[in-house]
Amino acid sequence: MTELLIKGGTVYTPDGPRRADVHVSDGAIVRVEPGLAIGPDGKQIDVDGMYVLPGAVDVHVHSRDPGFPEKEDFATMTAAAAAGGVTVVLDMPNTVPAVDSAGVLESKAALARSKAQVDFGLWGLIRSSTTPEQLEAMADAGAVGFKAYLAYSFSLSRKQVLYSPDDEDPDLEPPADYGTLARLAPVVAALGLPLAIHAEDPTVLAAFRRPLLTYDDLLESRPPEAEAVAVSAAAAVARESGAHLHIAHLSSALGLQAAEDAVKVGTSLSVETCPQFLLLTAQDFDQVGSAMKMLPPIRGAADREALVGGLKRGVISVVSTDHAPHTDEEKSRRFEDAPAGSPGVQTLYLSCLQLAKDLGDVWLAPRWVSQAPADLFGLSRSKGAIAPGFDADIVIVDPRGKTRVRPEHMRSRQRHGALEGKEFDFSIQSVFLRGERFAPGGKARGRMVRPALVAR
Ligand SMILES: [Zn+2]
Repeated sequence: MTELLIKGGTVYTPDGPRRADVHVSDGAIVRVEPGLAIGPDGKQIDVDGMYVLPGAVDVHVHSRDPGFPEKEDFATMTAAAAAGGVTVVLDMPNTVPAVDSAGVLESKAALARSKAQVDFGLWGLIRSSTTPEQLEAMADAGAVGFKAYLAYSFSLSRKQVLYSPDDEDPDLEPPADYGTLARLAPVVAALGLPLAIHAEDPTVLAAFRRPLLTYDDLLESRPPEAEAVAVSAAAAVARESGAHLHIAHLSSALGLQAAEDAVKVGTSLSVETCPQFLLLTAQDFDQVGSAMKMLPPIRGAADREALVGGLKRGVISVVSTDHAPHTDEEKSRRFEDAPAGSPGVQTLYLSCLQLAKDLGDVWLAPRWVSQAPADLFGLSRSKGAIAPGFDADIVIVDPRGKTRVRPEHMRSRQRHGALEGKEFDFSIQSVFLRGERFAPGGKARGRMVRPALVAR
Protein backbone atom coordinates (compact mmCIF):
# COMPACT_ATOMS: atom_id res chain seq x y z
CA MET A 1 0.00 0.00 0.00
CA THR A 2 1.30 3.44 -0.96
CA GLU A 3 -0.03 6.05 1.43
CA LEU A 4 0.02 9.78 0.80
CA LEU A 5 -1.32 12.67 2.89
CA ILE A 6 -1.77 16.08 1.31
CA LYS A 7 -2.03 18.27 4.39
CA GLY A 8 -3.25 21.77 5.12
CA GLY A 9 -4.52 23.03 1.77
CA THR A 10 -7.83 24.48 0.60
CA VAL A 11 -9.48 21.58 -1.20
CA TYR A 12 -12.06 22.04 -3.95
CA THR A 13 -14.59 19.34 -3.03
CA PRO A 14 -17.96 18.56 -4.67
CA ASP A 15 -19.48 20.70 -1.90
CA GLY A 16 -17.17 23.61 -2.63
CA PRO A 17 -13.83 24.73 -1.22
CA ARG A 18 -12.83 23.87 2.33
CA ARG A 19 -9.77 23.41 4.52
CA ALA A 20 -9.06 19.69 4.60
CA ASP A 21 -6.40 17.04 4.31
CA VAL A 22 -6.54 14.47 1.52
CA HIS A 23 -5.59 10.88 2.29
CA VAL A 24 -4.59 8.84 -0.76
CA SER A 25 -4.13 5.09 -0.68
CA ASP A 26 -2.90 3.08 -3.68
CA GLY A 27 -3.79 5.83 -6.13
CA ALA A 28 -7.31 6.52 -4.86
CA ILE A 29 -8.64 9.18 -2.52
CA VAL A 30 -9.91 7.55 0.68
CA ARG A 31 -10.63 10.47 3.03
CA VAL A 32 -11.04 14.23 2.75
CA GLU A 33 -11.25 15.71 6.25
CA PRO A 34 -9.41 18.11 8.51
CA GLY A 35 -6.95 16.80 11.08
CA LEU A 36 -5.89 13.57 9.32
CA ALA A 37 -2.61 11.85 10.18
CA ILE A 38 -0.59 9.22 8.38
CA GLY A 39 1.50 6.27 9.57
CA PRO A 40 5.33 6.23 9.51
CA ASP A 41 5.43 4.40 6.15
CA GLY A 42 3.30 7.03 4.41
CA LYS A 43 4.41 10.23 2.74
CA GLN A 44 3.14 13.62 3.89
CA ILE A 45 3.14 16.75 1.75
CA ASP A 46 2.41 20.07 3.45
CA VAL A 47 0.47 22.43 1.23
CA ASP A 48 -0.45 25.22 3.62
CA GLY A 49 -1.86 28.17 1.68
CA MET A 50 -2.21 26.15 -1.53
CA TYR A 51 -5.25 25.12 -3.51
CA VAL A 52 -5.83 21.37 -3.91
CA LEU A 53 -7.79 20.90 -7.14
CA PRO A 54 -9.10 17.96 -9.16
CA GLY A 55 -7.04 17.27 -12.31
CA ALA A 56 -8.47 18.82 -15.45
CA VAL A 57 -10.23 16.80 -18.17
CA ASP A 58 -9.50 18.48 -21.52
CA VAL A 59 -12.23 17.13 -23.79
CA HIS A 60 -10.80 18.57 -27.01
CA VAL A 61 -7.18 17.91 -27.94
CA HIS A 62 -5.41 16.87 -31.13
CA SER A 63 -2.42 14.65 -30.36
CA ARG A 64 -1.44 14.43 -34.09
CA ASP A 65 -0.49 10.83 -33.28
CA PRO A 66 -0.63 8.74 -35.38
CA GLY A 67 -0.21 10.93 -38.45
CA PHE A 68 1.99 13.95 -37.84
CA PRO A 69 4.52 13.14 -35.11
CA GLU A 70 6.71 16.05 -36.24
CA LYS A 71 3.92 18.37 -34.98
CA GLU A 72 3.20 16.46 -31.74
CA ASP A 73 2.87 12.92 -30.44
CA PHE A 74 1.12 11.33 -27.50
CA ALA A 75 4.24 11.63 -25.34
CA THR A 76 4.82 15.36 -25.89
CA MET A 77 1.11 16.21 -25.77
CA THR A 78 0.53 14.36 -22.50
CA ALA A 79 3.74 15.78 -21.00
CA ALA A 80 2.34 19.26 -21.76
CA ALA A 81 -1.00 18.20 -20.26
CA ALA A 82 0.63 16.90 -17.07
CA ALA A 83 2.73 20.04 -16.67
CA GLY A 84 -0.48 22.09 -16.82
CA GLY A 85 -2.58 20.01 -14.41
CA VAL A 86 -4.57 18.22 -17.10
CA THR A 87 -4.78 14.56 -16.04
CA VAL A 88 -7.23 13.32 -18.69
CA VAL A 89 -7.22 14.25 -22.37
CA LEU A 90 -9.93 13.26 -24.85
CA ASP A 91 -8.24 13.01 -28.23
CA MET A 92 -10.11 13.98 -31.39
CA PRO A 93 -10.56 11.39 -34.16
CA ASN A 94 -8.89 13.28 -37.03
CA THR A 95 -5.52 11.65 -36.53
CA VAL A 96 -4.29 9.62 -39.55
CA PRO A 97 -5.73 7.11 -40.15
CA ALA A 98 -8.89 8.77 -38.84
CA VAL A 99 -10.70 6.89 -36.06
CA ASP A 100 -13.69 5.72 -38.08
CA SER A 101 -13.83 2.08 -36.92
CA ALA A 102 -13.27 -0.04 -33.82
CA GLY A 103 -10.08 -1.46 -35.31
CA VAL A 104 -8.49 1.95 -35.81
CA LEU A 105 -9.63 3.02 -32.34
CA GLU A 106 -8.01 -0.04 -30.77
CA SER A 107 -4.70 0.48 -32.59
CA LYS A 108 -4.67 4.13 -31.58
CA ALA A 109 -5.41 3.14 -27.97
CA ALA A 110 -2.44 0.74 -27.96
CA LEU A 111 -0.15 3.44 -29.37
CA ALA A 112 -1.41 6.03 -26.87
CA ARG A 113 -1.02 3.64 -23.94
CA SER A 114 2.65 3.13 -24.80
CA LYS A 115 3.38 6.87 -24.60
CA ALA A 116 0.75 8.60 -22.44
CA GLN A 117 1.85 10.45 -19.29
CA VAL A 118 -1.78 11.12 -18.35
CA ASP A 119 -5.03 9.23 -18.83
CA PHE A 120 -6.75 9.54 -22.18
CA GLY A 121 -10.02 8.85 -23.94
CA LEU A 122 -10.62 8.59 -27.68
CA TRP A 123 -13.29 10.18 -29.88
CA GLY A 124 -14.78 8.33 -32.86
CA LEU A 125 -15.36 9.97 -36.24
CA ILE A 126 -18.68 10.27 -38.06
CA ARG A 127 -18.20 10.20 -41.84
CA SER A 128 -21.02 10.60 -44.36
CA SER A 129 -20.64 6.86 -45.04
CA THR A 130 -20.52 5.75 -41.38
CA THR A 131 -22.91 2.92 -40.50
CA PRO A 132 -24.80 2.27 -37.24
CA GLU A 133 -22.74 -0.93 -36.80
CA GLN A 134 -19.49 1.06 -36.96
CA LEU A 135 -20.74 3.40 -34.24
CA GLU A 136 -21.80 0.48 -32.03
CA ALA A 137 -18.42 -1.21 -32.49
CA MET A 138 -16.54 1.99 -31.65
CA ALA A 139 -18.70 2.44 -28.53
CA ASP A 140 -17.86 -1.13 -27.49
CA ALA A 141 -14.17 -0.35 -28.06
CA GLY A 142 -14.48 2.58 -25.62
CA ALA A 143 -15.17 5.72 -27.70
CA VAL A 144 -16.07 8.70 -25.47
CA GLY A 145 -18.31 10.24 -28.12
CA PHE A 146 -18.61 10.85 -31.85
CA LYS A 147 -17.58 13.90 -33.80
CA ALA A 148 -18.85 15.09 -37.18
CA TYR A 149 -16.83 17.70 -39.10
CA LEU A 150 -19.65 19.36 -41.02
CA ALA A 151 -17.53 21.20 -43.60
CA TYR A 152 -14.64 18.74 -43.92
CA SER A 153 -14.27 16.06 -46.59
CA PHE A 154 -12.61 12.70 -46.10
CA SER A 155 -9.69 11.53 -48.24
CA LEU A 156 -10.31 7.85 -48.97
CA SER A 157 -6.70 7.12 -49.93
CA ARG A 158 -5.09 9.07 -47.07
CA LYS A 159 -7.76 8.18 -44.44
CA GLN A 160 -7.70 11.82 -43.45
CA VAL A 161 -10.23 14.55 -42.61
CA LEU A 162 -9.53 17.52 -44.91
CA TYR A 163 -10.92 20.99 -45.56
CA SER A 164 -11.23 20.93 -49.37
CA PRO A 165 -14.41 22.74 -50.40
CA ASP A 166 -15.61 22.43 -54.02
CA ASP A 167 -13.02 19.81 -54.76
CA GLU A 168 -14.27 17.40 -57.43
CA ASP A 169 -11.57 14.88 -56.60
CA PRO A 170 -13.16 11.38 -56.54
CA ASP A 171 -10.79 10.52 -53.70
CA LEU A 172 -12.76 12.89 -51.46
CA GLU A 173 -15.86 11.59 -49.71
CA PRO A 174 -18.29 14.47 -49.03
CA PRO A 175 -18.49 15.81 -45.47
CA ALA A 176 -20.97 14.44 -42.95
CA ASP A 177 -24.02 16.71 -43.26
CA TYR A 178 -27.32 17.25 -41.43
CA GLY A 179 -28.70 14.20 -43.25
CA THR A 180 -25.85 12.10 -41.84
CA LEU A 181 -26.67 13.44 -38.37
CA ALA A 182 -30.41 12.71 -38.80
CA ARG A 183 -29.58 9.17 -39.94
CA LEU A 184 -27.15 8.40 -37.11
CA ALA A 185 -28.34 10.52 -34.16
CA PRO A 186 -30.86 7.88 -32.99
CA VAL A 187 -28.02 5.33 -32.88
CA VAL A 188 -25.81 7.72 -30.92
CA ALA A 189 -28.75 8.45 -28.58
CA ALA A 190 -29.25 4.73 -27.94
CA LEU A 191 -25.55 4.34 -27.18
CA GLY A 192 -25.79 7.15 -24.60
CA LEU A 193 -22.74 8.99 -25.92
CA PRO A 194 -22.42 12.65 -26.90
CA LEU A 195 -22.67 13.70 -30.53
CA ALA A 196 -20.18 16.51 -31.14
CA ILE A 197 -19.98 18.78 -34.15
CA HIS A 198 -17.45 21.10 -35.66
CA ALA A 199 -20.13 23.75 -36.01
CA GLU A 200 -19.56 25.58 -39.28
CA ASP A 201 -22.16 25.28 -42.03
CA PRO A 202 -20.45 24.45 -45.35
CA THR A 203 -22.90 26.41 -47.52
CA VAL A 204 -22.30 29.58 -45.51
CA LEU A 205 -18.55 29.01 -45.70
CA ALA A 206 -18.81 28.46 -49.47
CA ALA A 207 -20.58 31.81 -49.90
CA PHE A 208 -17.76 33.65 -48.11
CA ARG A 209 -14.74 31.87 -49.58
CA ARG A 210 -11.79 34.07 -50.47
CA PRO A 211 -8.00 33.99 -50.47
CA LEU A 212 -6.79 34.27 -46.88
CA LEU A 213 -4.11 36.93 -47.17
CA THR A 214 -4.90 38.83 -43.97
CA TYR A 215 -6.55 38.24 -40.60
CA ASP A 216 -9.60 40.18 -41.83
CA ASP A 217 -9.89 37.72 -44.74
CA LEU A 218 -9.91 34.87 -42.22
CA LEU A 219 -12.68 36.55 -40.21
CA GLU A 220 -14.74 37.23 -43.32
CA SER A 221 -14.30 33.67 -44.60
CA ARG A 222 -15.62 32.15 -41.37
CA PRO A 223 -18.61 34.34 -40.40
CA PRO A 224 -20.55 33.70 -37.19
CA GLU A 225 -23.60 32.82 -39.30
CA ALA A 226 -21.80 29.60 -40.26
CA GLU A 227 -21.57 28.66 -36.58
CA ALA A 228 -25.11 29.70 -35.67
CA VAL A 229 -26.71 27.89 -38.64
CA ALA A 230 -24.81 24.68 -37.86
CA VAL A 231 -25.74 24.84 -34.17
CA SER A 232 -29.45 25.42 -34.91
CA ALA A 233 -29.70 22.72 -37.56
CA ALA A 234 -27.81 20.09 -35.58
CA ALA A 235 -29.84 21.00 -32.49
CA ALA A 236 -33.08 20.33 -34.37
CA VAL A 237 -31.77 16.90 -35.34
CA ALA A 238 -30.59 16.16 -31.80
CA ARG A 239 -33.90 17.23 -30.28
CA GLU A 240 -35.85 14.92 -32.56
CA SER A 241 -33.60 11.91 -31.86
CA GLY A 242 -32.95 12.46 -28.17
CA ALA A 243 -29.18 12.50 -28.75
CA HIS A 244 -27.04 14.77 -26.62
CA LEU A 245 -25.41 17.41 -28.83
CA HIS A 246 -22.03 18.83 -27.84
CA ILE A 247 -20.83 22.00 -29.56
CA ALA A 248 -17.05 22.05 -29.92
CA HIS A 249 -15.02 25.29 -29.61
CA LEU A 250 -17.87 27.82 -29.67
CA SER A 251 -16.46 31.13 -30.92
CA SER A 252 -19.24 33.67 -31.51
CA ALA A 253 -22.09 35.57 -29.87
CA LEU A 254 -24.41 34.45 -32.67
CA GLY A 255 -23.47 30.80 -32.16
CA LEU A 256 -24.06 31.18 -28.43
CA GLN A 257 -27.50 32.67 -29.07
CA ALA A 258 -28.38 29.70 -31.29
CA ALA A 259 -27.23 27.27 -28.59
CA GLU A 260 -29.14 29.12 -25.88
CA ASP A 261 -32.32 29.17 -27.99
CA ALA A 262 -31.99 25.41 -28.57
CA VAL A 263 -31.60 24.74 -24.85
CA LYS A 264 -34.71 26.85 -24.13
CA VAL A 265 -36.84 24.56 -26.28
CA GLY A 266 -35.59 21.46 -24.56
CA THR A 267 -32.56 20.32 -26.57
CA SER A 268 -30.04 18.24 -24.64
CA LEU A 269 -27.04 20.33 -25.56
CA SER A 270 -23.70 21.28 -24.03
CA VAL A 271 -21.26 23.92 -25.15
CA GLU A 272 -17.51 24.19 -24.80
CA THR A 273 -15.39 27.21 -25.54
CA CYS A 274 -11.64 27.70 -25.27
CA PRO A 275 -9.29 30.03 -23.37
CA GLN A 276 -8.14 31.70 -26.59
CA PHE A 277 -11.72 32.86 -27.33
CA LEU A 278 -12.10 34.09 -23.73
CA LEU A 279 -8.76 35.91 -23.45
CA LEU A 280 -7.97 37.21 -26.95
CA THR A 281 -9.74 39.21 -29.65
CA ALA A 282 -8.97 39.92 -33.30
CA GLN A 283 -7.26 43.11 -32.06
CA ASP A 284 -4.47 40.97 -30.64
CA PHE A 285 -3.41 39.73 -34.07
CA ASP A 286 -0.96 42.61 -34.65
CA GLN A 287 0.95 41.48 -31.59
CA VAL A 288 0.41 37.70 -31.57
CA GLY A 289 0.51 36.99 -35.31
CA SER A 290 -0.15 33.59 -36.92
CA ALA A 291 0.12 31.80 -33.57
CA MET A 292 -3.53 32.83 -33.16
CA LYS A 293 -4.59 31.68 -36.63
CA MET A 294 -7.17 28.99 -35.94
CA LEU A 295 -10.58 27.75 -37.09
CA PRO A 296 -13.06 28.96 -36.10
CA PRO A 297 -11.22 32.27 -35.71
CA ILE A 298 -10.76 34.42 -32.62
CA ARG A 299 -13.27 37.21 -33.23
CA GLY A 300 -14.04 40.71 -31.90
CA ALA A 301 -14.50 42.08 -28.38
CA ALA A 302 -18.31 41.70 -28.49
CA ASP A 303 -17.96 37.99 -29.22
CA ARG A 304 -15.43 37.56 -26.44
CA GLU A 305 -17.72 39.35 -23.97
CA ALA A 306 -20.69 37.23 -25.02
CA LEU A 307 -18.72 34.02 -24.46
CA VAL A 308 -17.57 35.17 -21.02
CA GLY A 309 -21.23 35.98 -20.26
CA GLY A 310 -22.32 32.52 -21.45
CA LEU A 311 -19.75 30.95 -19.16
CA LYS A 312 -20.94 33.06 -16.21
CA ARG A 313 -24.57 32.07 -16.83
CA GLY A 314 -23.63 28.41 -17.20
CA VAL A 315 -24.87 28.09 -20.81
CA ILE A 316 -21.26 27.27 -21.61
CA SER A 317 -20.29 24.65 -19.05
CA VAL A 318 -16.97 23.35 -20.31
CA VAL A 319 -13.68 25.02 -21.20
CA SER A 320 -11.45 22.87 -23.42
CA THR A 321 -8.45 23.90 -25.47
CA ASP A 322 -8.72 22.57 -29.04
CA HIS A 323 -4.98 21.94 -28.56
CA ALA A 324 -3.83 21.71 -32.19
CA PRO A 325 -0.08 22.15 -32.59
CA HIS A 326 1.98 22.38 -35.78
CA THR A 327 5.70 22.95 -36.04
CA ASP A 328 7.04 26.41 -35.18
CA GLU A 329 8.49 26.47 -38.70
CA GLU A 330 5.07 25.88 -40.28
CA LYS A 331 3.48 28.52 -38.06
CA SER A 332 6.17 31.08 -38.96
CA ARG A 333 5.32 30.99 -42.68
CA ARG A 334 3.47 33.95 -44.20
CA PHE A 335 -0.13 34.22 -42.99
CA GLU A 336 -1.84 32.52 -45.95
CA ASP A 337 0.49 29.48 -45.71
CA ALA A 338 0.57 29.08 -41.92
CA PRO A 339 -1.66 26.16 -40.86
CA ALA A 340 -4.53 26.86 -38.43
CA GLY A 341 -4.28 25.78 -34.80
CA SER A 342 -2.35 26.42 -31.60
CA PRO A 343 -1.17 24.35 -28.66
CA GLY A 344 -3.14 25.04 -25.48
CA VAL A 345 -3.42 22.05 -23.16
CA GLN A 346 -0.58 23.19 -20.89
CA THR A 347 -2.19 26.57 -20.13
CA LEU A 348 -5.81 25.40 -19.69
CA TYR A 349 -5.95 25.35 -15.89
CA LEU A 350 -3.94 28.50 -15.21
CA SER A 351 -5.81 30.56 -17.82
CA CYS A 352 -9.16 29.42 -16.39
CA LEU A 353 -8.09 30.16 -12.81
CA GLN A 354 -7.19 33.67 -13.95
CA LEU A 355 -10.45 34.15 -15.80
CA ALA A 356 -12.46 32.81 -12.85
CA LYS A 357 -10.57 35.07 -10.45
CA ASP A 358 -11.26 38.07 -12.70
CA LEU A 359 -14.96 37.12 -12.66
CA GLY A 360 -14.88 37.12 -8.85
CA ASP A 361 -15.03 33.37 -8.12
CA VAL A 362 -11.83 31.41 -8.59
CA TRP A 363 -13.67 28.13 -7.83
CA LEU A 364 -15.50 28.31 -11.14
CA ALA A 365 -12.28 27.11 -12.80
CA PRO A 366 -12.31 23.50 -11.51
CA ARG A 367 -15.99 23.31 -12.50
CA TRP A 368 -15.26 24.35 -16.09
CA VAL A 369 -12.20 22.18 -16.62
CA SER A 370 -12.76 19.17 -14.36
CA GLN A 371 -16.16 18.61 -12.77
CA ALA A 372 -18.40 19.52 -15.74
CA PRO A 373 -16.36 17.68 -18.39
CA ALA A 374 -16.09 14.53 -16.23
CA ASP A 375 -19.87 14.57 -15.72
CA LEU A 376 -20.60 15.16 -19.37
CA PHE A 377 -18.38 12.36 -20.63
CA GLY A 378 -19.47 9.66 -18.18
CA LEU A 379 -16.21 9.77 -16.19
CA SER A 380 -17.63 11.08 -12.92
CA ARG A 381 -17.26 7.82 -11.03
CA SER A 382 -13.49 8.25 -10.92
CA LYS A 383 -12.57 11.68 -12.33
CA GLY A 384 -13.49 15.32 -11.78
CA ALA A 385 -13.68 15.48 -7.99
CA ILE A 386 -11.64 15.29 -4.83
CA ALA A 387 -13.77 12.91 -2.82
CA PRO A 388 -13.46 9.38 -1.38
CA GLY A 389 -13.41 6.72 -4.09
CA PHE A 390 -12.09 9.00 -6.84
CA ASP A 391 -8.74 8.63 -8.58
CA ALA A 392 -6.10 10.76 -6.85
CA ASP A 393 -5.64 13.06 -9.87
CA ILE A 394 -4.71 16.17 -7.96
CA VAL A 395 -3.24 19.55 -8.84
CA ILE A 396 -1.56 21.70 -6.20
CA VAL A 397 -1.79 25.38 -7.14
CA ASP A 398 -0.05 28.28 -5.44
CA PRO A 399 -2.46 31.26 -5.47
CA ARG A 400 0.42 33.61 -4.70
CA GLY A 401 2.61 32.31 -7.50
CA LYS A 402 2.92 33.97 -10.88
CA THR A 403 3.28 32.28 -14.23
CA ARG A 404 4.22 33.90 -17.51
CA VAL A 405 3.66 31.75 -20.59
CA ARG A 406 7.13 31.32 -22.08
CA PRO A 407 8.15 29.14 -25.02
CA GLU A 408 11.02 27.55 -23.10
CA HIS A 409 8.56 26.12 -20.56
CA MET A 410 6.25 24.58 -23.14
CA ARG A 411 6.40 20.81 -23.50
CA SER A 412 4.55 20.56 -26.82
CA ARG A 413 6.60 20.40 -30.01
CA GLN A 414 5.16 23.78 -31.00
CA ARG A 415 6.58 26.20 -28.44
CA HIS A 416 5.04 29.46 -29.60
CA GLY A 417 1.29 29.35 -28.94
CA ALA A 418 -1.53 31.88 -29.01
CA LEU A 419 -1.24 32.69 -25.28
CA GLU A 420 2.51 33.30 -25.27
CA GLY A 421 3.42 36.17 -22.95
CA LYS A 422 0.19 35.99 -20.92
CA GLU A 423 0.62 36.32 -17.16
CA PHE A 424 -1.41 34.44 -14.58
CA ASP A 425 -1.62 35.08 -10.82
CA PHE A 426 -1.16 31.38 -10.05
CA SER A 427 1.47 28.71 -10.43
CA ILE A 428 1.23 24.95 -10.50
CA GLN A 429 3.29 23.45 -7.72
CA SER A 430 2.77 19.76 -8.41
CA VAL A 431 0.49 17.36 -10.25
CA PHE A 432 -0.48 13.84 -9.19
CA LEU A 433 -1.84 11.12 -11.45
CA ARG A 434 -3.46 8.35 -9.41
CA GLY A 435 -1.41 9.39 -6.39
CA GLU A 436 1.95 9.51 -8.17
CA ARG A 437 3.62 12.84 -8.63
CA PHE A 438 4.24 13.71 -12.24
CA ALA A 439 7.92 14.20 -13.08
CA PRO A 440 9.20 15.14 -16.54
CA GLY A 441 10.65 12.16 -18.39
CA GLY A 442 8.73 9.64 -16.29
CA LYS A 443 7.45 6.43 -17.80
CA ALA A 444 4.09 6.23 -19.56
CA ARG A 445 1.46 5.62 -16.88
CA GLY A 446 -1.59 6.88 -18.70
CA ARG A 447 -4.57 4.56 -18.98
CA MET A 448 -7.49 4.72 -21.33
CA VAL A 449 -10.70 6.00 -19.76
CA ARG A 450 -14.04 4.65 -20.91
CA PRO A 451 -17.36 6.33 -20.29
CA ALA A 452 -19.82 4.73 -17.90
CA LEU A 453 -22.67 4.45 -20.37
CA VAL A 454 -26.02 5.49 -19.03
CA ALA A 455 -28.26 4.01 -21.70
CA ARG A 456 -26.66 0.60 -22.13
ZN1 LIG B 1 -10.36 20.65 -32.80
